[in-house]
Amino acid sequence: MHKKLIFKREVVNSILTFCKMHHPNEAILILRGNNKKDTIIVDNVMIPPMAEGGPYYAGFPLDMLPGDMSILGTAHSHPSGSAEPSLTDMNHFSGIIGIIVRYPYEDNDLFTYNLDGEKLEFLIQD
Ligand SMILES: [Zn+2]
Repeated sequence: MHKKLIFKREVVNSILTFCKMHHPNEAILILRGNNKKDTIIVDNVMIPPMAEGGPYYAGFPLDMLPGDMSILGTAHSHPSGSAEPSLTDMNHFSGIIGIIVRYPYEDNDLFTYNLDGEKLEFLIQD
């Protein structure tokens, strides 16, 4: 994927705050926005229906996702402090991008991956 990836500042703030609130449990959010020809813009987050937070894995049934084309993927926290996607993460990957936020959930603790588990560069925009 060679598209430009942009996160709105407020989206990043929401994700970081949400992760901090749920620590030491894992938190998960749905990412929404626009998948354009050259650019992917994430401008909205949503709390997934029936989210189950636990110390090891935060998940939700994929068939509970609304059939909504604005869904780009998910963001979830790693209270352990690891930035690497786990095997479970890769098996549960949905959408086109996945964000992992490691403890202590600051700007530089946010990492984005594609379906193949490759790290993606992104910009934070106001
Ligand atoms: Zn994970």
